[in-house]
Amino acid sequence: MTLRERLHKINQSIEKYTEKPLSGGHRPSLLAASKGQEEAIIEEAIAAGITHFGENRVQEAQGKWETIKSRHPDVTLHLIGPLQTNKVADAVALFDIIQTLDRPKLADALAATMAKSGKKLPCFIQVNTGNEPQKAGVTPEEADAFINYCIKDCGLLVRGLMCIPPEGQPPAPHFALLKTIADRHGIKELSMGMSNDYETAIRMGATIIRLGRVLFGERT
Ligand SMILES: *Cc1c(COP(=O)(O)O)cnc(C)c1O
Repeated sequence: MTLRERLHKINQSIEKYTEKPLSGGHRPSLLAASKGQEEAIIEEAIAAGITHFGENRVQEAQGKWETIKSRHPDVTLHLIGPLQTNKVADAVALFDIIQTLDRPKLADALAATMAKSGKKLPCFIQVNTGNEPQKAGVTPEEADAFINYCIKDCGLLVRGLMCIPPEGQPPAPHFALLKTIADRHGIKELSMGMSNDYETAIRMGATIIRLGRVLFGERT
């Protein structure tokens, strides 16, 4: 199957699940998770109409995206992998949205860098809904205080929440928890759902689904 054919199938299933009552009838944006994908494939995805992309590593993204972005200024690039504080300046320079804000030190560094550069990027706070020790994200218990810290103390634009449910568990309770936390704060965007669980995520109100394998094929 070609990328266009895979995208067509994904769009059909987005239509179908957007009609389910819990989804709120809101069609989510498709973000292409392009880690490991070469420039030519990304160009093919842009030609097929995709406008949101996510990269996991600042350095890999710099290598590919400085040129792609100069050709396609309308594309929105999201950071969806963990961000080290020493990479914050590079990340703010390259990305349009940071989805992995998850600790006060990073919030401080982002606020300081954005103030200095005059480039105020929308951020998503990553919530470790499964309380997994190896996984990034604030715990659900810390989430309320951290959201307030980012908005009130740091003045960051918190546009949404993001999560990656634990492998091997039903994802629905994790998506529901993320939505509950977002609703408490009037936060509108929910970045949730990957290749294996995006249909469930749409039903639960995802506004951004992040797709890698179903769109590009299995990673090698
Ligand atoms: C790789 C990745 C995705 C996409 O995963 P697939 O299972 O290939 O769809 C989504 N979100 C994040 C944070 C990722 O690292």
